[in-house]
Amino acid sequence: MGEKALTLAADLYGCPNRCLHCWLSHMPNRRMEPGADVRIVSLFKPYFDSIAFYSWLREPDFCPDYRARWERDKQLSVNAIPARFELASFWRLARDAEYPLFLKEAGVSCVQLSFFGLEDTTDRYVGRKGAFRELLKATERLLKNGLRPRWQTFINEENREELPALLALSETMELPRRCAELGGEFSFFVHPGSCDGENRKLYSIRICKEHIPAALVPHTLDYDALFSEKDLCRRWRDNTSHVIPHNDGDIVLYVSNDYGLFFNFTHMRPEWRIGNLLTDPMDELIRRVVEEDSPALRAAREITLGELVRLYGDESSDRAFDMEDYKAYLLNTYLERRYRT
Ligand code: SF4
Repeated sequence: MGEKALTLAADLYGCPNRCLHCWLSHMPNRRMEPGADVRIVSLFKPYFDSIAFYSWLREPDFCPDYRARWERDKQLSVNAIPARFELASFWRLARDAEYPLFLKEAGVSCVQLSFFGLEDTTDRYVGRKGAFRELLKATERLLKNGLRPRWQTFINEENREELPALLALSETMELPRRCAELGGEFSFFVHPGSCDGENRKLYSIRICKEHIPAALVPHTLDYDALFSEKDLCRRWRDNTSHVIPHNDGDIVLYVSNDYGLFFNFTHMRPEWRIGNLLTDPMDELIRRVVEEDSPALRAAREITLGELVRLYGDESSDRAFDMEDYKAYLLNTYLERRYRT
């Protein structure tokens, strides 16, 4: 196994939010016991030469001692340094004036913040009263400390009329000019979200491409790669390939707070579980990881894309998807019917 590097992310602390678009799906918060981090990494050490360890897979830095935690993540990693990406906790940004300094020290220069509309809508979608104001406070606190915010927004039929007002708010706050002063661009981008976890439950209000307001079209991520559901159904009706997610490069594994082991392909639902680190032998778990063997992946090999379209596609629907998201929608619909009815 030495030739493949492993990225290992464990849900040690949970998340303060319950976003209606959460691609992982909602899971209970349960702080894992002291020593869980060492125990998890030790289980994989005999099988991989390189392991990048992360103590979070939901909200980053959602533990009071986040500085020590980051050092610990680096220490526990083997021949690898975990990356910071452009992710941070807006919950902490709004509460802790020291936190942006830590982010800078860790090499972060831009932080992505997620909005769902204006105040009431964003609060409802994040699952917490006050979330919208926290996002604005986080934006200001980032800028004050020389860090750029990036606003990500999720569009659907319910919030589409609010998002141009959010774009206007970013201009009123002079975010493009203030980011330019820091040597970079302000990014405001719109997308419909994936088809995993909680967001797939919003299928009934998924945006139709022609309903994306004109002001948002230049800000829509991969606009030209969005297709209507009916177009994709026609295109794939007789397709005999299979929808099988696959790790091309390094292996990325998630560990839930009850030691369930998952690939990072889609939501963390039971059919996608590879096994459990406490109850399954490690040799067998590693075999399943290498051979990409889980109940969902076995089931995915038994049905073609064309069959999925004929069973679950709506040939009258104008809902917008990119190709990979629609494949995930179809496959997870099949798996939900197969495993939960
Ligand atoms: S999307 Fe991220 S912040 Fe929101 S509930 Fe899921 S893990 Fe938490």
